[in-house]
Amino acid sequence: MPLDPSAPTTLHIQTPLLLHRRLAAALGKPVWLKMENAQPSGSFKLRGIGLLCQRAVAAGATHLVCPSGGNAGFAAAVAGVALGVQTTVVVPVTTGEAVRRAIADIGAALIVHGAAWDDANGEALRLCSAPGTVYIPPFDHPDIWDGNATVIDEALQQALLSVPGDMPFDVVICSVGGGGLLCGVLEGLHRNGLAHVPVIAVETEGAASYAAALAAGEPVTLAAITSVATSLGARRVAQAAFDWHRRHDIISVVVSDAAAVDACIRFADDLRVLVEPACGAALAVAYGDMPPLRRFSRPLVIVCGGIGCDLATLAALQKKFALPSSIQSPP
Ligand SMILES: *Cc1c(COP(=O)(O)O)cnc(C)c1O
Repeated sequence: MPLDPSAPTTLHIQTPLLLHRRLAAALGKPVWLKMENAQPSGSFKLRGIGLLCQRAVAAGATHLVCPSGGNAGFAAAVAGVALGVQTTVVVPVTTGEAVRRAIADIGAALIVHGAAWDDANGEALRLCSAPGTVYIPPFDHPDIWDGNATVIDEALQQALLSVPGDMPFDVVICSVGGGGLLCGVLEGLHRNGLAHVPVIAVETEGAASYAAALAAGEPVTLAAITSVATSLGARRVAQAAFDWHRRHDIISVVVSDAAAVDACIRFADDLRVLVEPACGAALAVAYGDMPPLRRFSRPLVIVCGGIGCDLATLAALQKKFALPSSIQSPP
């Protein structure tokens, strides 16, 4: 049944906050996991995109259009269907069959248009000239950051219940694509009086548009995305994500694709949960006990999830990077 868009309810759910016991034992410190893979959209994206869609419908939108062949499109589909409005996801031809099916199965209209995201985006913008039709961007919108910030509101509440009286985490580790999650995490820290808690912002080689922006002193457009972590493949980060580095201690880390995939494999073995390499990137910082993590004693990892990884895909990536298949201990 469609939700009443004016009711004060959210489309996202409260996800578990878990202790990664195996990694905690190996690193000698608690490692918290915010399990965003458990969202109905399979990724954190329902928090921000859900809120944006909800506000758009409350303001009169009758048709939502999202250009994304990935988790943003799927989250928009989940949100639009729950809100009871027509929802169209425009994807480029490169979008895989499984994701296309997931979007169509949930009841959203799927349009396949163009060779790359820019083409799909052009078509989405064209559709949005119709009255009542609202454009849903993947990461660059204040409502998206506002919604994504709830991941910190929630993690803080849950952690305070588990560890009363103590400050439960002293650093947040999250992946960066276009920077919508990063902006949300930062907004969440600031609105909860945690402006002093640093953030480790993780990308993969070949998708490192945030690291490139820091190096250049402004957002720059990458010539190409070459990483297997396709959900991190925004060629340019949002200006707002870049601007945060002047106001907050953000540590930029770039990991290899192999490290991200290895983290996915270990995570699947340890937690029995499958996530995309985009999420493996953040996990790799903890699994690799990477130097930027060593000065912290209570990390929180945002397990951003993603629907674009199945067993066969992970097995193929494992082979591609010649990674060991047996269960192995963390460092
Ligand atoms: C979208 C996404 C990201 C990157 O988020 P941005 O808001 O674009 O920075 C990372 N991981 C997964 C699984 C995603 O779906």
